[in-house]
Amino acid sequence: MSVTDEVLKASSNYTKDFALGHLPMPPARKLAILACMDARLTVEQVLGLKTGEAHIVRNAGGIATEDAVRSLIISHHLLGTQEFMVINHTDCGMLTFKDEELAAKLTRETGTAALAPARFYAFHNVEQNVRDQVQRIKSHPWIPREIPVRGFVYDVKNGTLREVQGQA
Ligand SMILES: [Zn+2]
Repeated sequence: MSVTDEVLKASSNYTKDFALGHLPMPPARKLAILACMDARLTVEQVLGLKTGEAHIVRNAGGIATEDAVRSLIISHHLLGTQEFMVINHTDCGMLTFKDEELAAKLTRETGTAALAPARFYAFHNVEQNVRDQVQRIKSHPWIPREIPVRGFVYDVKNGTLREVQGQA
């Protein structure tokens, strides 16, 4: 059985006592989170969030890419979120490579260059990466100034969440 088949079985169990069909579309706690996709970071568990309470946008590195910012804009303007958090974590895979090296390796292995993604957004300092993403979100003209955007680093070894200092 493939892993997809395994999780499909879990999904059919989930359906048996499903009781969340009444939830409205807008997140109840008006919170949106941009986080790394790391498998060790379960955002809902770390923050005590339940289904229906927050938007969680995830990608490799928790980067405020055009697409992540698109989601945050929709989250606020159409679905009413009023606070944003950016969460990175220790031991991130994005610390382990350089954009140009990965692009060169993939081009070599596949024999083909690719126009997209134009960048992988690898970084070498997780705190600075968080500050950069917070800044990128805050400076977007369609994200109102009054929305708090705070950045954090989750420690995958001890489960603590630490706020990144020195944010603009
Ligand atoms: Zn990561």
